[in-house]
Amino acid sequence: MVELDEWLSGRIDKTKELGLYRKVRTMNSAPFSKMLIDGQRQIVFSSNNYLGLANDRRLVYAAEKILHEFGVGSTGSRLTTGHTDWHQRLEEKIASFKQTENALLFSSGYLANVGVLSSLPEKGDVILSDQLNHASIIDGCRLSKAETLVYNHIDMDDLEKKLKETASYQRRFIVTDGVFSMDGTIAPLDQMISLAKRFHAYLIVDDAHATGVLGENGRGTGEYFGVHPDVVIGTLSKAIGTEGGFVAGSHVLIDFLLNHARTFIFQTAMPPAVCAASYAALEIMEESYTKRQRLFSNVKKIKTRLKEMGYIVKGDLTPIIPVLIGDSKEAVIFAEKLQENGLYVPAIRPPTVPDGESRIRLTVTSDHSSKEIDYLLDCFHFIGKELNMIR
Ligand code: PLP
Repeated sequence: MVELDEWLSGRIDKTKELGLYRKVRTMNSAPFSKMLIDGQRQIVFSSNNYLGLANDRRLVYAAEKILHEFGVGSTGSRLTTGHTDWHQRLEEKIASFKQTENALLFSSGYLANVGVLSSLPEKGDVILSDQLNHASIIDGCRLSKAETLVYNHIDMDDLEKKLKETASYQRRFIVTDGVFSMDGTIAPLDQMISLAKRFHAYLIVDDAHATGVLGENGRGTGEYFGVHPDVVIGTLSKAIGTEGGFVAGSHVLIDFLLNHARTFIFQTAMPPAVCAASYAALEIMEESYTKRQRLFSNVKKIKTRLKEMGYIVKGDLTPIIPVLIGDSKEAVIFAEKLQENGLYVPAIRPPTVPDGESRIRLTVTSDHSSKEIDYLLDCFHFIGKELNMIR
């Protein structure tokens, strides 16, 4: 028998040969647009901190106060000793922000997706899932006893075709990201809700990247299209700037999940101090119109200028700006050149994206200054020319 490490080293070598090897980088400073990373000063264009709240003093003070009162850990699952006033208050706040009857916290957005999809659809049901849905949706579908059918990315004709083909199933669930994490596209919820109604299907939306970002008040994709999906899943780890996940929906939905979602039942509750910081973030969110305006003006500027330079820039108007490179190794070289010039923007490669679609995935925040954005654009200009990617 081969030693475990020898066998795994062989597998790692193969990953390296394919240009898919990954490693972590260490952040040596607080989450601002400029950070110290592995000891080097870098401008970060890859964080999910869309509204700059992760290091906002109001969140820090809210967490600090509750840390002193409640301690560090929650000590148990929500159904044992882990449920505090702060979990309760935050759930009420999320429900009011998302304009639903109720909400339920999970320890992460990943666990919220897995919890919903592994508990709601039953054997004899079918889940219709967008081709580019997040890994946590895919993993939730894998754990479900229902069958899963994948429809082409935001292709409403294909979704309709698959809804027609699945009439014999007991129940149908359509599941989609609101904003797609690697492509920056927005799911057409207005059309999806019409299809769901017409074919008596339920609509589940993972609003991880849209919460705090899309819609007049940042309530997410539902607000952007003026619709109310049956189940809204979200994370606190992006625009809200903290940690944790949630599901928002009817009282009955939440009661069901509390009793059946294994990733809720068998998980230690979030620390109360994180709940308090998230609560403070949602209060800010309600008046963060100018932050969102700044965010979208940054997005527009970058997308327009990159397209003018000749880059293929995917996606809709969201803070996720994927610049298509194609080959994995070229994407890595591009990211390394950006890093040499003080810009932290990792390359995204398979299996996160399909083969041949490796990309530089920029994310923009409301905190990026015009100077930082101009510098980014200058670097894209000269690196693209140097690597013969643009003319
Ligand atoms: N859903 C989407 C679309 C995401 O991009 C992410 C984040 O990585 C998640 C869910 C998981 O959220 P969390 O980081 O809170 O586990």
